[in-house]
Parts: sequence; structure tokens; C-alpha cells
Amino acid sequence: MSGCPVCRAGFRGTAVCPRCGADLTDLMSMAVRAWRSRESAREALAAEDWVAARELASQAQRLHDTPAGRALLAVTLCVNCV
Ligand SMILES: [Zn+2]
Repeated sequence: MSGCPVCRAGFRGTAVCPRCGADLTDLMSMAVRAWRSRESAREALAAEDWVAARELASQAQRLHDTPAGRALLAVTLCVNCV
């Protein structure tokens, strides 16, 4: 999920792979949905809705795994066990 499914080139946020020309539209829309989920998770954290924040953060990670998403998920797991 972190790059082009055809040639494994790094995903650069473009609709077409710059290396092999593969259509990355699905990958992009998945990344966008994951980004929105992370934004909602941050809002839930700000609103101290820990359960919703954890759900949204893990949903984002299932869609698109990123280092920032992993950090966010770790935070939501922490606040849920305090
Ligand atoms: Zn490619």
C-alpha cells in the first residue's frame, strides 16, 4: 500500500505512477480517505472522545499505513488505557 502496486515505485501523491505509468487513482482515493479519517481522529482527540479517536485512527491505518498514522494510533491507544 505504500507504493505503486505494479513497479513498487514510491507513492508520490500522483494519479499516474511516474515510473511505469500505472493508474494510481484507487491508491490516491484510499490515501485521501485515510487522511480524512486521521483528521477526524485528531478532532475526536481534541474533543476527548477517546473511543472514536481510536476507531478512526485504526480505520485510517487499515486504509493507508503511514508513520504519522502509526504515531496517531499509538496516542489514541495510550489515552484509551489511562
Ligand atoms: Zn509504477
